[in-house]
Amino acid sequence: MPVWICATCANHYPDRESPPQECVICSDERQWVPSSGQRWTTAAELARGGHRSDVREVEPGLLGIGAHPPVAIGQRALVIKTPQGNLLWDPPGFLDEQAVTRVRDIGGLLAVTASHPHFYGSIVEWSHAFGAGILLPEVDAHWLTRPDPAVRTWSGSLEVLPGVTLVQCGGHFPGSAVAHWADGADGAGVLLTGDTIFVTPGEDRVTFVWSAPNRLPLPERAVREVVEAVRPYRFDRIYGGWWQPVVRTGAREILEASAGRYIEFLRGDAAVD
Ligand SMILES: [Zn+2]
Ligand SMILES: [Zn+2]
Repeated sequence: MPVWICATCANHYPDRESPPQECVICSDERQWVPSSGQRWTTAAELARGGHRSDVREVEPGLLGIGAHPPVAIGQRALVIKTPQGNLLWDPPGFLDEQAVTRVRDIGGLLAVTASHPHFYGSIVEWSHAFGAGILLPEVDAHWLTRPDPAVRTWSGSLEVLPGVTLVQCGGHFPGSAVAHWADGADGAGVLLTGDTIFVTPGEDRVTFVWSAPNRLPLPERAVREVVEAVRPYRFDRIYGGWWQPVVRTGAREILEASAGRYIEFLRGDAAVD
């Protein structure tokens, strides 16, 4: 029996004879169900459709794993490599043997995690491939659509590996998180943010969303909480959920300035003429 994959968000569901009635991720107001109705697929069907893993070194010590052509939301995973073990972040719904081999070549995985439930994707498959623990924020763990005994929950912050810390920011989801990688960007520090902090096309701003597809903003309190949560950490670069865009340098200042501007709009203080 196949693992059922939602064609819109690529989250995985248990291997049963038939798929569920609905995708709980897509039925939520933060996502969307196609006007033509819910559609399901499988890893075999995606492979037959020509999808392949796309694995690239993003910077030294950081491996990116996407799919080409992209699947569903199209996020690419990141693997932070450390001497003590590796962490997988935001896996897309599609994976194949090539991706597993590449990760095995750099030492496998100690743990797998994600910024938020839209990007849990193939997280359980990756856990099974490497015997890796699945780290989910306690408040969002119920969103995992393919329950698994390897799940461990956390709250607040969690140092998964030396210099690699998960930070709960909230906002998009109550457990929306970023991963701080102290050694990234040549030691200047990196945040992996998914869409907890959303990098915009010019790579000189970030924004904040409750729902990206439905264009619903975050309230001021939530924006302030996201910024507060990452303030204790040193970082100069932000990788969002996709290969591009990336805030390559000056990320701390960009985050503070972008949050300030966003709040001016929320309050009606921004001149818009
Ligand atoms: Zn879905
Ligand atoms: Zn999302």
